[in-house]
Amino acid sequence: MTRDKVKKRIEYLVNEVRRHQDLYYKKAQPEISDREYDALFDELLKLERRYPDLALPDSPTKRVGSDLDNEFPEVRHPFPMLSLDKVYTIDELESWIEKSRNDTGYDISFTVEEKIDGSTIVLHYENGILVRAVTRGDGFVGNDITENVRTIKDIPLRLSEPVTSIFRGEIYIDRKDFEKLNSQFDSIYANPRNFAAGSLRRKKSSEVAKIPLKSYVYEGFYGDVSIKEHLKVLHKLTELGFRVFDDVGYFSSTIKKEYDNIFKKHTGWVRGTYRDIDNFIIRMKEVRDKLPYDIDGLVVKINEYPIRDKLGYTAHHPRWAMAFKFEAPQAVSEILDIDVQVGRTGRITPVARIKPVWIAGTTVSNVTLHNQDYINSLDVAIGDVVAVSRHGDVIPAVDEVIEKNDKGNKTFRLPEECPVCGSKLIQDGAHLFCPNRNCPARIYGRISFFVGRGQMDIENLGPETVKKLIELGLIKDIPDIYFFNPDDLLGVEGFAEKKVKLIKEGIEKSKEQPFEVVLASLGLEEIGPKVVELLIEAGFDSIDKLIKTAKKKKPDIFTKIQGIGPKTAEKIIQQFNDPYILDMIEKLKKAGLKFSKGKKEKEEEYSKIFEGQVWCITGSFKNFKPRETAMEEVKKRGGKVVSQVTGKTTHLLVGENPGSKLEKASQVGAKLVTEEEFLKMLNEK
Ligand SMILES: [Zn+2]
Repeated sequence: MTRDKVKKRIEYLVNEVRRHQDLYYKKAQPEISDREYDALFDELLKLERRYPDLALPDSPTKRVGSDLDNEFPEVRHPFPMLSLDKVYTIDELESWIEKSRNDTGYDISFTVEEKIDGSTIVLHYENGILVRAVTRGDGFVGNDITENVRTIKDIPLRLSEPVTSIFRGEIYIDRKDFEKLNSQFDSIYANPRNFAAGSLRRKKSSEVAKIPLKSYVYEGFYGDVSIKEHLKVLHKLTELGFRVFDDVGYFSSTIKKEYDNIFKKHTGWVRGTYRDIDNFIIRMKEVRDKLPYDIDGLVVKINEYPIRDKLGYTAHHPRWAMAFKFEAPQAVSEILDIDVQVGRTGRITPVARIKPVWIAGTTVSNVTLHNQDYINSLDVAIGDVVAVSRHGDVIPAVDEVIEKNDKGNKTFRLPEECPVCGSKLIQDGAHLFCPNRNCPARIYGRISFFVGRGQMDIENLGPETVKKLIELGLIKDIPDIYFFNPDDLLGVEGFAEKKVKLIKEGIEKSKEQPFEVVLASLGLEEIGPKVVELLIEAGFDSIDKLIKTAKKKKPDIFTKIQGIGPKTAEKIIQQFNDPYILDMIEKLKKAGLKFSKGKKEKEEEYSKIFEGQVWCITGSFKNFKPRETAMEEVKKRGGKVVSQVTGKTTHLLVGENPGSKLEKASQVGAKLVTEEEFLKMLNEK
């Protein structure tokens, strides 16, 4: 096929696919079978892939997205996309309306629209074709996310008229879809707004296509002088093919006849005079919970564009619009700085230091920002004023930016290098990692996790002491805890003899921790207490068994265990084949830590040779010190143990220098057993 023919064929296919989509979805009258339709679609997709330069920007294939990684280049908005000023009470809102009327001196009217909890999008159309979609960003510069936005079903790729203009709207997700998907993606998003914003920035548009994002468009025709009233613009938007709110209120001094046609077409829209505004607001507050999506307030705008132009803008907001928020934020604070923390696995976590605020019973001064995607979804920068909340017992979260900083700070970007060791960071999933195992931050994280509560729980060896030990060069990694000499601490400030003694005791005592605790304390990826429990239940009751199996590199051995998925299996295999980790385990074994289930758990395995017998002990022994350990062996094998010889005593274990028990035992007819005979009995089975 010549290029010319390809071009024609692509155009033909685009029109056909679109026509059949219309017949199928809008008219419910398909003319061809699903298979025939799929064939057309696939042919179009193939041609577009072979001749990408001939692909049309409004091709229906754009809806399914692509598997190529998207870049989101920064784009300057042609004019500022400002946020709205906010009020929190009807009184404040009414005085703003009153003031606007007085200030302008004209007979102005107002529209009231839903303030949907989504992510703002700026849509550029040329001759009716969607050519660019940009996030709001800081209001001046946003990110080009066109490919992702093209997958959103209700955003027209082509308008009903060949207009060239810019439109502003909101991308959102229905509450029920958020709840369902947020749990699936082990997501970090606190609310549907952040989820929608995060979804829009997924690298692959084919993934965005799978998320049921929706849109409403509420501003347009910037610079177009032919339509001068907002209500008419809203109506025009619906004619062009955009989704516009079903509930729009319009309020003026008197009811205007010229809008009759508009209200006939939009039966959900309401009109009235100024005094009806508060009733409308109260009604919207009531219907709020019945909407399938979250709204956090209403937006009141002056209807007449010439008046809007006259009022203009402050540095941050238009003067012709006001957001009425249903609830004040729990707290408002300023982002003083953003720290970049490096965890024990190398994971990089940005943490916002905020001006301390009191929320739900505690002072909050640090808020996690999770990762770059999360930061992007908020478009947050140092110096921004933000709304912070804590819902239930949940960790505090930044809900949204309320006021951008005026220092020119841009949306925060995580560094490309580890802030502690300077290694180049690597991306794994949504997170960045420092790959350097010897990164001081990772070493500290690893050791303090190991000794911490819930893990080895080494008393008197807290994070501060760990820090000191590393500083002094006494320990360099986990196993050193068991090999350094705590006496070297004597003389160091804060380490008196008593404290050093307690540290020694704590370390010694930790050697008693059972296998499951030791294993989970290593802090290996995906191998937490839950997985350890599953492994042990499945028979992996020693580290040797685990390592031996991991060396076979067969993930299905592990995925067979219910509760262990492919990712965990892969990590188990990878880590137990890692010479560094194997070396660490070897050293800890030498230190005397338990790397298999202890004797106690093996009780069942002993045959009950002493069942029904009653044992007592006298004298001292070579192999049993203290002698009680000999009696433990009796108990394990089903025997009963008593401290004094009575008529019921059946056996007396007799060591060197026996006491009066020997005579008594002979009297009651108990069997006398020497240490040598006893050892033979124990080894029988
Ligand atoms: Zn590092």
